[in-house]
Amino acid sequence: MILGGIEAGGTKFICAISDENMEIKERISIPTTAPEETMLNVFEFFDKYDVDAFGIGSFGPIDVNPSSDTYGNITSTPKVAWQHYPFLDVMKDRYDVPFSFTTDVNAAAYGEMKMGAAKGKGSCMYITVGTGIGAGIVIDGEVIHGFSHPEAGHILVRRHPEDMFAGFCPFHGDCLEGIAAGPAIGKRFDTDAKDLPKHHISWEIEAYYLAQALVNYTLTVSPEMIIFGGGVMKQDQLYPLIYKEFESLMNGYVETPKLSEYIVPCQLEDNAGIIGCLLLAKNAYETK
Ligand code: ADP
Ligand code: ZN
Repeated sequence: MILGGIEAGGTKFICAISDENMEIKERISIPTTAPEETMLNVFEFFDKYDVDAFGIGSFGPIDVNPSSDTYGNITSTPKVAWQHYPFLDVMKDRYDVPFSFTTDVNAAAYGEMKMGAAKGKGSCMYITVGTGIGAGIVIDGEVIHGFSHPEAGHILVRRHPEDMFAGFCPFHGDCLEGIAAGPAIGKRFDTDAKDLPKHHISWEIEAYYLAQALVNYTLTVSPEMIIFGGGVMKQDQLYPLIYKEFESLMNGYVETPKLSEYIVPCQLEDNAGIIGCLLLAKNAYETK
């Protein structure tokens, strides 16, 4: 079996070829420029192989509703050149094989559930805290789509009493992403999040927001595990702060698994997305 995976990000596209055991034969990283230019490079890579099925995990928002006229399109992205780009159709015109099409974070959640931190479980949620905040959800072994896909990075949270930062989300100002993604941490203290000391108050503010999000996710989705990815979550000191805040907010209402086993860092690290795409390709092939 020859599987093709595309983790389509706002700054780069990772393309990979693997066999059915996720043994990667070749992978490349292509800068995300104009769609026509980026896609030429994507074709050049995959044309060398006789791919049996593709899995795509894309930045978004995207249309994941198979009954919609614009299924497979990138929709209202701030990246103007990609707005309303018919990503899936363009791929299908070139390669007449089964496709799976979902968000980059749903693909990462799928990868972590099959081969990473949540291996052996039937559900999990994956949250990346980086340039933005995005969340993917797998329930009963399937990534979640409704009329659209989850956008759980843009939920609303209570403000920390000492946080005066207005928030940077162009749509909502101080939604979770607007006050807790990497750029918010940096802008709040006029630095780069990476350069803040480990005992700085910024991490308490960050944990205050992330714990609220996780309480909301737990109460809404009840996943078996919540897995963190993204640059910001490399700050290990955040985990105990999140556990403490989570416990205080939940106040014993829902008995969750032990927090250090329930809220965990990702295992596949930077490969969660592309592995998830390849696993989704395999699934598309097997269920075609
Ligand atoms: P992307 O979201 O583009 O895939 P990252 O997950 O690395 O990339 O996110 C970049 C954001 O995360 C930046 O705002 C950066 O300041 C922040 N960031 C990256 N690495 C770290 C780190 N080790 N500690 C804290 N913040 C980080
Ligand atoms: Zn928002």
